[in-house]
Amino acid sequence: MAGHTYRKGFEKALVEHLHRDGQLWGVAVDDDGVARLRPATTAFELGSTKLPLIPPKKILLPPREAMWHLPPDGAYREPEIQNDKTVLLGILPCDLYALWYLDRVFAEDSSYLKRRQKLVLVGTMCQPSEQCFCPPHASPPPFDLFLAEGCVWAGSSLGQSCLADLADHLDMSESRPLPAELTAGKSDAAPEDLERLFLESRHRPLWKNEAQRCLSCGACSAVCPTCYCYDVVDSAGLDGGVTRQREWDNCFFRNHALVAGGHNFRPDRAERLRFRFEHKYLGFGEMRGEQSCVGCGRCVSACPVDIDLSSLLNRLCGVIQ
Ligand code: SF4
Ligand code: SF4
Repeated sequence: MAGHTYRKGFEKALVEHLHRDGQLWGVAVDDDGVARLRPATTAFELGSTKLPLIPPKKILLPPREAMWHLPPDGAYREPEIQNDKTVLLGILPCDLYALWYLDRVFAEDSSYLKRRQKLVLVGTMCQPSEQCFCPPHASPPPFDLFLAEGCVWAGSSLGQSCLADLADHLDMSESRPLPAELTAGKSDAAPEDLERLFLESRHRPLWKNEAQRCLSCGACSAVCPTCYCYDVVDSAGLDGGVTRQREWDNCFFRNHALVAGGHNFRPDRAERLRFRFEHKYLGFGEMRGEQSCVGCGRCVSACPVDIDLSSLLNRLCGVIQ
């Protein structure tokens, strides 16, 4: 993938160009000091490298949404998804990798796919924080356009067509590869025998000791870009119609694994902490063995009692005691 250096004025021209196609979203720091992803104007400056508190999953998987409605006449309806494009500006590599993971989890989910097809991703390089620990990746994340060090790369046909339209702002005589830091990561990959270490750890005091501090507040999952558990709730109207909704759920909540008959598969916090670790580092089903933690560090920042999955990984692997 070859990138081109751009001239002064390119970033502004790009934002204005993308605005013609859809609603712009960017990360801004509000008065309370919290960075949030929210609708932006053409005045948005692409140089920002802030990680928003709630990641882009909130656009693809809204906290609460109707899945379908069945009116009394039986004419099944799915909700309409807005038709305009949503352009996400200044998305950092860890959030782009997180979207790549969600894309595979929700590959057959019609609501997700409709929104995803309308999403335009403009990525940018990060400045690693003290809390983050992204793993190395074998290939770059998905993006339409990616900007770093005064250079721009197109990762889709939409991105290529944008650059063709803005060719006057580019120096086409030189092409550069994507920055090596994009895939290099800041921490080591999880060890190959993690599955064994994890299974053998069931009765180690590690989980119980750490979970004693856990408040089951769920903040870590809420801010995680690859946590996507949802609950399904049906409600019947007085007219006989039924609406099915889904809403964010959280594996740290006490009733997350409560099933009909009253059995709870994970009644204590140690089991719930271990379950979240399993999801983040080992995955489930067809994606078993794939790490979904992109190392953004949001959970570390959000946890009121400093529980850190990467530290648990190091202890599990014997790197630290
Ligand atoms: S587990 Fe924590 S560090 Fe990993 S992706 Fe989720 S929020 Fe980021
Ligand atoms: S944020 Fe910390 S205290 Fe809250 S559920 Fe997660 S690990 Fe437990």
